[in-house]
Amino acid sequence: MLDQTDIAQKKDDLIAIAKRCFDLRLQTNSGGNLSVRLESQDAILIKPSGVGFNECSRENLQVVMLDGTILPSERDLKPSKDLEFHLDLYRRREDIRAILHCHSPWATGYASAGQEIPCLTVQTLEKVGRIPLIPLSENGGPQTAAQIGPVFDAPSVKAAVLANHGTIGVGKTLMAAQYLAELIEETAHIAFVRDTLMRVRGSERPKMPRHGTHQDELRELERA
Ligand SMILES: [Zn+2]
Repeated sequence: MLDQTDIAQKKDDLIAIAKRCFDLRLQTNSGGNLSVRLESQDAILIKPSGVGFNECSRENLQVVMLDGTILPSERDLKPSKDLEFHLDLYRRREDIRAILHCHSPWATGYASAGQEIPCLTVQTLEKVGRIPLIPLSENGGPQTAAQIGPVFDAPSVKAAVLANHGTIGVGKTLMAAQYLAELIEETAHIAFVRDTLMRVRGSERPKMPRHGTHQDELRELERA
């Protein structure tokens, strides 16, 4: 039995976060996606395909069971292309309660150049730790659950960027997932300014902050 109060609350949360993401220009047009886990059921609420972040409404959001069953909604809309990877991440990790995926330009630019975004601010180190880069699928098409899911098996991974595609942030709430998307975009922008200035001046790679919650993992990466 679906808890309509739970669904109504989650719909309002999702509509507010989608609008914030749109207003900050992290997502234009009808791309990207966001979803949230319901408290009362093994199910999620998700934006359907073809609906912009600025157009989400109580009438057009879809409830999907974790087994993939799409429940009837007021409008007969197509499920999101991203539905499979959203469901896969919720099945893999109980701690993931919300997912935000957007095509924010600075982060996607780095990912499309085949470069991992460096966690170069103290805030990024503390709040994210590392932002893995997931390449296109082998046939050159968009990343699927098969490529995205395993990256999030490590419980410390909170975000990733998809080459030629966009950003994924996960969290306990939609706001937490949205903050990650904002932080990643901000970090990519800062990294671009830093790298451009360094290139102009011909300067060496500057020091990175040496603290944060994922330092062990970072040291391992540096050794690899
Ligand atoms: Zn996308």
